[in-house]
Amino acid sequence: MAHLLEGKTALVLGIANKWSLAYAIASAYRREGARVVLTYQNERLRQTLEELGGELGAAKVFQCDVTQPAELERLAAELGDGLDTVMHSIAFANRDDLSRPFVETQRDGYLLAQEVSSYSLLAVARATVPLMPAGGSILTLTYLGSQRVVPNYNVMGVAKAALEATVRYLASDLGPKNIRVNAISAGPVKTASARAVKDFSTILDVVAKHAPLRRNTDPAEVADTAVFLASNLGRGVTGNTVFVDAGFHIMGI
Ligand code: NAD
Repeated sequence: MAHLLEGKTALVLGIANKWSLAYAIASAYRREGARVVLTYQNERLRQTLEELGGELGAAKVFQCDVTQPAELERLAAELGDGLDTVMHSIAFANRDDLSRPFVETQRDGYLLAQEVSSYSLLAVARATVPLMPAGGSILTLTYLGSQRVVPNYNVMGVAKAALEATVRYLASDLGPKNIRVNAISAGPVKTASARAVKDFSTILDVVAKHAPLRRNTDPAEVADTAVFLASNLGRGVTGNTVFVDAGFHIMGI
């Protein structure tokens, strides 16, 4: 079969290590022939990302903390025209806010989770839309904790609800420019961010027992859906939250 992303350039934000969902996505984008540009959060991650970027065959690797408008502006200037896909795979909340009762969440922690995990999609979209004059596909990653209560997901669930609404409003704004905006709602996967959620392994156990497919989600499955949504095959899909979670979200009990 022909490569699905041949001739396309994809920007992937949010690789921290090999276990990051963004790593699986960047690998799949490369497999499908895309030119891939990566970003990392800060100097601490620079060496790792340069190594992983080399392994993946990334065209370029840039630093970009999405809470810093100047870094987003610089990224856009460095990228130049000819972007087709943006994969936003970024979230953060204080560990304390993912382990104590939600009612104890303070203003700072609430706003931090919103800024990094939800508002940043809007900021990234604003910076990159001018680089996609021929249209494109913007993607982000969300989780079921936006719609249902998942123990300890707390403030991140609220941020993901805002993120999913942001996807819909962006899809409506950007549709006339032929830019599609979608979220993938991934099942739980053991990554650095996921480990910050208290008792995360219990969530994995429950999903493996009760999901229709009776197993957890493989990052490669999330990545293949990200390929579909970035490719011409996804041309009619925008404003969606697509679940890649072994079907867990349909279960009542
Ligand atoms: P991860 O820790 O590997 O990735 C999170 C990334 O966010 C890291 O690369 C980190 O550097 C980056 N980041 C945080 N703050 C940033 C900032 N200010 N600027 C730039 N980058 C910043 O974990 P992951 O699980 O791969 O998370 C990726 C996305 O997938 C997140 O949005 C997460 O909520 C979502 N998700 C994860 C799961 C799961 O179970 N792992 C399930 C559904 C959705």
